[in-house]
Amino acid sequence: MSEPIGVWNYVRGFENLSLCDWPGKTSCIIFLGGCNLRCPTCHNFQLAWDMHSLPAIDPQRVRAYLRDRAGWLDGVTITGGEPTTVPGVGELVYEIRKAGLPVKMDTNGMRPEVVADLLQAKLVDTFAVDVKGPYAKYPALTGKAVSEIAARANMTRIFEMAAAMPDAFYFRITQVPGLTKADVAVAQSYLPPKHELKIQKFVPPRRTPENAKSNHEERRPAGNMVD
Ligand code: SF4
Repeated sequence: MSEPIGVWNYVRGFENLSLCDWPGKTSCIIFLGGCNLRCPTCHNFQLAWDMHSLPAIDPQRVRAYLRDRAGWLDGVTITGGEPTTVPGVGELVYEIRKAGLPVKMDTNGMRPEVVADLLQAKLVDTFAVDVKGPYAKYPALTGKAVSEIAARANMTRIFEMAAAMPDAFYFRITQVPGLTKADVAVAQSYLPPKHELKIQKFVPPRRTPENAKSNHEERRPAGNMVD
């Protein structure tokens, strides 16, 4: 396979079937490389920060899978890394929608303008947004990639969209080391009415970002696809 071009070059993992990633739905998962944050607790840092060390996925195999399974899959999850940083991500979502499948996208919420565009174009059905913690802790929680001010501004835009379209968003927080119960309560207080903050247990990454070349522990981007 020659190296895929455009947005498909960012597809560095594919999981055929997940029963839990999109609550209440069966979905396959497309993993996109690249991320704008540097969370010290990241499980997918190889995908997020060094995607070229992972093999690209053959677009034709993913397309064939979506075509053949569209009848019984409930939808497609697009995750990362951070999907909203990927140039042309809308084209990928459009292609999936043309196959007749709804789309859920995971995001850290730091590119609300991309979220707004995808919502406005009716391309993404649901956004699963990770709230990292209180805004004051974003610099520590994101490897200094985001200031408190930027975190507040970006997440406020996300929460405004969620208030206007409650069914299009749900929110999660991972109780990483350094995040107290009081911090979680502060993060919960940011959410608009009708939303809950789903608390996820933190599982430490198997290796540190400094020495790992293959941390595929949790939501592992699969290099090969099994039909
Ligand atoms: S936002 Fe997610 S993918 Fe990006 S560095 Fe943080 S944990 Fe990793």
